[in-house]
Amino acid sequence: MVKFHYLRDIMIRRCTEHGYFRGGGCLQCKLPGRYVLDDSKEEKLGRFVSGTLRHFPASAGVEMDKCGWVNLDTFCEVMKKRYNWMRKEYLYALVESDEKGRYEICDSRIRARYGHSVDIDLDYPESTFPYLYYGASPEEVDVLLENGIFPIKQRYVHLSTSYEKAAEVALIHTESPVIIQIEAVRAQEDGISLRLATDYIVLAEKIPPEYLFVVEN
Ligand SMILES: [Zn+2]
Repeated sequence: MVKFHYLRDIMIRRCTEHGYFRGGGCLQCKLPGRYVLDDSKEEKLGRFVSGTLRHFPASAGVEMDKCGWVNLDTFCEVMKKRYNWMRKEYLYALVESDEKGRYEICDSRIRARYGHSVDIDLDYPESTFPYLYYGASPEEVDVLLENGIFPIKQRYVHLSTSYEKAAEVALIHTESPVIIQIEAVRAQEDGISLRLATDYIVLAEKIPPEYLFVVEN
């Protein structure tokens, strides 16, 4: 019998029916499932996976292809050298329980879906959203409307598929975000590629100013 106060601190667990989840109970059937990984290991794992797959694959000692993929077994071996508790299952647990869809595993390979600073070409399908959104701070909005949106530290500009998501992202950096709407269809007709990375995130090389409008709220 597992006591409830014990469950509260556990980060990743697995339901036999619904897979990996975070917190004390399965998101679908509410059952406690099987313990997989605690908070502190999850944090170490998450930091290493994010850093390696988004920013420094070479210095971590893994080879990345041009679409951002890394061999899962090689990656796990590299991690085992750093963390002796490491197991391959933890990578599946991290990826599958991530509500933001930060990573994916496919054909024994793993990659980050977005957030890269390393130079890669992601091969996602074109977005079909008529409009996309970007949250800016009041200080930067005029500069963006004049020059367009360019990536600064990252490889791609990250756009949101809804006004609400853009506001949510921007609130991390600014108290009163200004939401810019992007005329996605017109941009695509003019040859600008807008790639769907997750249900909420679209990546672009840059968005020129003629497709940008401030949403009045
Ligand atoms: Zn379940």
